[in-house]
Amino acid sequence: MTQLSERVLNMATSATLAMAAKARELKAEGKDIIGLSLGEPDFNTPDFIKDAAIQAINDNYNSYTPVDGYVELKDAIITKFKRDNNLNYQRSQIVVSTGAKQALANIAAVLLNKGDEVILPCPYWVSYSDIVKLNEGIPVEVKTSIENDFKLTPQQLEAAITPKTKMIWYSSPCNPSGSVYSQDELRALADVLQKYPNIIVVSDEIYEHINFIGGHASMAQFDDMFDRTVTVNGVSKAFAMTGWRIGYIGAPETIARACNKMQGQITSGANCIAQRAVITALNESPSRVQFMIDEFKARRELILDLLSAIEGFKTNVPEGAFYVFPNVSYFFGKTLKGQLIENATDFSLYLLEHANVATVTGAAFGNPDCIRISYAASQEQIIEAIKRIKDAVS
Ligand code: PMP
Ligand code: GLU
Repeated sequence: MTQLSERVLNMATSATLAMAAKARELKAEGKDIIGLSLGEPDFNTPDFIKDAAIQAINDNYNSYTPVDGYVELKDAIITKFKRDNNLNYQRSQIVVSTGAKQALANIAAVLLNKGDEVILPCPYWVSYSDIVKLNEGIPVEVKTSIENDFKLTPQQLEAAITPKTKMIWYSSPCNPSGSVYSQDELRALADVLQKYPNIIVVSDEIYEHINFIGGHASMAQFDDMFDRTVTVNGVSKAFAMTGWRIGYIGAPETIARACNKMQGQITSGANCIAQRAVITALNESPSRVQFMIDEFKARRELILDLLSAIEGFKTNVPEGAFYVFPNVSYFFGKTLKGQLIENATDFSLYLLEHANVATVTGAAFGNPDCIRISYAASQEQIIEAIKRIKDAVS
């Protein structure tokens, strides 16, 4: 029998991808499943980006790409960082990867030694914990509260720091809570980090544009944090380009060089056509994709309104991204249609079976009291899904 590595045996399957696969499977069997599990915009990639990709094919962009990305793409990223975030990166500080996911995997691989700790405010994005563990790091989960909009406080940060703390990873806007850290809130965290100059911050800003309150803030905007922050971003969400697989970092040069080296042995440079298309995407004004953000905002109002009418769903008001993360612990210990609900995983599976709605258990995001519902679906689907959920739990 094949003996697999401990590494993969100890690793969890991505819960978001697993739930999406399960929903797809059930749909293929003819079940009328509404998929609210995967964080994926339901829009088509805008035509101006598709046209650039077609042009790139016709222009014979077919060779291996520079490992860290085409120079023209790095320049577009530099322009974007300056224009949208007031960050001044040099070409040597940019690395383009096969999705932000690979960017995060690179960061962990080049920075973690066995036993290094990474602070993960909970809830965190599903893959952070396993990427850290895969690289022999130790995830240090810090539970945040719905009352504080699922945000880490300076006191909590300080209490979680030990001599082994190497990094803190967070996303803002946050997947799965939708929380957005203000500049003042980030400054308060930065003030704590001032006392610990060796800790590196990984600021995942992939939902930057899907922000309903305006004023996106980046940790690297503070002069005293710039040299110790890795800013992670990508085009999957704001440009509806999940399958194109382009993400990138702006980082201290030593880290960027190391990520380049790592990527050079594992995947080489990211896809040539996708990179050419992303040059066009990033060089355009973000206003070209505002219509999607407006629609996400309308859906947020809709889903919050519908959920508020169901007893047992307690939510914060997400200020960005396209998820709600209700606390459903009200149902724990209850029996629904003969099925005992012990935790959020049971509840999410119950909804799949009895409401035909796919969600993701909060356990995958480090919060076993909640479930994640993606509202990157049409308003009709959202209305129908929440109606089914309501019927299934009433
Ligand atoms: N970070 C966060 C917070 C995400 O939600 C995602 C979603 N897939 C990613 C990183 C990875 O994005 P991608 O690999 O598609 O660029
Ligand atoms: N980030 C998305 C999500 O959270 C896509 C799935 C994934 O990459 O895990 O659902």
